[in-house]
Amino acid sequence: MKHGLTITQLHNQLVKGELSVEKITRQYLAKIEEKDSDHKIYLTLNEEEALKQAKRVDQKIKAGKKIGPLEGLPVSVKDVLLTKGLRTTCASKILENYIPPYDAKAVADLKKAGSIILGKTNCDEFAMGGSGENSAFGVCVNPIDQTRVPGGSSSGSAVAVAKDLCVFSLGSDTGGSVRLPAAFCGVTGFKPTYGRISRYGLTAMASSLDQVGVIAKNVEDVTEVFSAVANPDEYDGTSSGFAGKNFRRDFDRGIKGLVLAYDKKSIDDSDPIIAEKSQKFLQKWEQNGGKVQATKIPYLGKEAVACYYIIMASEVSSNMARYDGSRFGVIPEKIRKETLRWHEYIAGVRGTLLGKEVKRRIVMGTFCLSSGYYDAYYGKAQQVRSYIQKSLKKIFRQSPLIFTPTSPDLPFKIGERMADPVRMYLADAFTTMANLAGIPAISLPIGEIERENKKLSIGGQLMADAWDEETLLRGAYWAEKMME
Ligand code: GLN
Repeated sequence: MKHGLTITQLHNQLVKGELSVEKITRQYLAKIEEKDSDHKIYLTLNEEEALKQAKRVDQKIKAGKKIGPLEGLPVSVKDVLLTKGLRTTCASKILENYIPPYDAKAVADLKKAGSIILGKTNCDEFAMGGSGENSAFGVCVNPIDQTRVPGGSSSGSAVAVAKDLCVFSLGSDTGGSVRLPAAFCGVTGFKPTYGRISRYGLTAMASSLDQVGVIAKNVEDVTEVFSAVANPDEYDGTSSGFAGKNFRRDFDRGIKGLVLAYDKKSIDDSDPIIAEKSQKFLQKWEQNGGKVQATKIPYLGKEAVACYYIIMASEVSSNMARYDGSRFGVIPEKIRKETLRWHEYIAGVRGTLLGKEVKRRIVMGTFCLSSGYYDAYYGKAQQVRSYIQKSLKKIFRQSPLIFTPTSPDLPFKIGERMADPVRMYLADAFTTMANLAGIPAISLPIGEIERENKKLSIGGQLMADAWDEETLLRGAYWAEKMME
């Protein structure tokens, strides 16, 4: 396998006694030390605790006890998910020293399944971004071409999986943050139905859009991890669904007759090479017994991005209010020593410790929610959002799956879009829709293209109706097989 051993492969080796958990954990930690000496992929490591847990699983195996599919596997967690006793920064200076007192539900579930947490991965500050460049601690580079971005915001997670610095990673996806970096790094990224995985302990960016997601080496691995963390939770009022579902239930059914809808314009508007690979993907789908159906997907592209950025920024502006320097953060001496009025203090703390993109969104969101503009922006965006939801429902009645390229663009050069936020936002042209509609979506590699002697990866996205992860993962499973 291109990115190292998969879940099943490692699990089999552990069960057969060919490897010990301690040994693989040490190997992963050594590899991280070697490949990530500047700590741009992992912001914090969990060495001591990881080795302790590894030994515990080894004892269990020695005692002849059965281990679960994820037990003893070294994994990583995006630094926006809280980890008890392990620093969680959200890649922001304002949380540089923050040690959470509890685990996010998805993290707790992983621990319960016996996975070994190696550390916390880098990302855009508070998950706001699509390139990883908004991290306060520096950008990690694309694993294929070091002059290009890895995609974001779950950049460290995608890079860690691609370079085999963990077996899989938990990320978060508010508008594409697991799918875009997965596409840019040549791995698989999945965002479930809104409510399927608890958001408890996931630092809020835009609460009506945020979901925990999975980045892994293939669709089977994604499905395995998803099954472990897809649990309802009384601590998240929007969580729903059932625990213990078998999401690979339908894999054996193949894709014969399975209808895949696509929007021709979205493909034509993409980079020509992405358009070409997308067409090839659709052809292959048909050659393998599936059906394709040209459809118009209303508001896919620029319009969805506009709607998303209004709703997202509005929610961001409200969620970020808690970072006022009274609860979290290392307060700069200059501010601590000065006698300031309360609002001056808050402005000083936020002004110094929050990054440019976060501030831009707070301002944008505050503007959209202000009394004179509320109806024109936020109200309108909500209407568009429900129209998108309804239109997609209609399409799913005819075709259970939708295909789009994951992004209209190839991984771009580091720094290239930093001065042009709108251009940066348009990399999300096809991913934001799934979050607006709350539906599940997955990105998987559909081809490569050589640029400057490097084989860049191209991602394709499948989406399904809410709560229909079974069909989504079945389609993705066979899509991956046919692209091999
Ligand atoms: N790139 C998108 C944004 O900047 C998505 C972020 C995310 O999914 N967390 O908002």
